[in-house]
Amino acid sequence: MKLILLGAPGAGKGSQGRILEEHYNILTLCSGDILRNRVKKEADDPDLKENMNDGQLVSDEYVMNLVMAELKKPEYEKGYILDGVPRTVEQADMLERNGIKVDAVFYIDVPDEVVKRRILNRRVCGSCGAIYCGKDLLKCDQCGGNLEKRADDTAEVIQERLDVYHEKTEPLIDYYSEKGLLKRVDGNQEKEKVAELMFDFFGRL
Ligand SMILES: [Zn+2]
Repeated sequence: MKLILLGAPGAGKGSQGRILEEHYNILTLCSGDILRNRVKKEADDPDLKENMNDGQLVSDEYVMNLVMAELKKPEYEKGYILDGVPRTVEQADMLERNGIKVDAVFYIDVPDEVVKRRILNRRVCGSCGAIYCGKDLLKCDQCGGNLEKRADDTAEVIQERLDVYHEKTEPLIDYYSEKGLLKRVDGNQEKEKVAELMFDFFGRL
């Protein structure tokens, strides 16, 4: 089973990815994680680092090379969930050219204002990566690790990311709609309800 999660930054792709991952026993490939890991590894690659921090996109080719290399690993053989990729029509075309056929694209639809509020309140566990919503939370429920605000979760960066999303990523809604793969879910509700809607769709796939 191969799925794509589509939606603005902060729409809840990460949370839904975890739920789907557990339910279907497949892995999520998150382009943000791959790129952040890459930034750590290649601290001497100033172009990549700069692009990540000001909310811009790194080149389609660069991202897709990392993604395709990752997908060749045996742990993705059973299927996977793509979170944050493809992020442009060009990336979607590259996936196709690499022979990747997905079963469904879940578009998690959330208004910009909600996304902004969520991201500003978001905290991430420094140890296990669990994501929390609530700026007053300090410790991770699951592992006791310290919760941190991500360096790129600021109002300015969020607005830039949303602008980039509307310009570059939103065209994918029509792109996958025309292929009959798009399933829209209203993401402006509890994450458990969003997950239920996604599972409903699966019964009909
Ligand atoms: Zn944790």
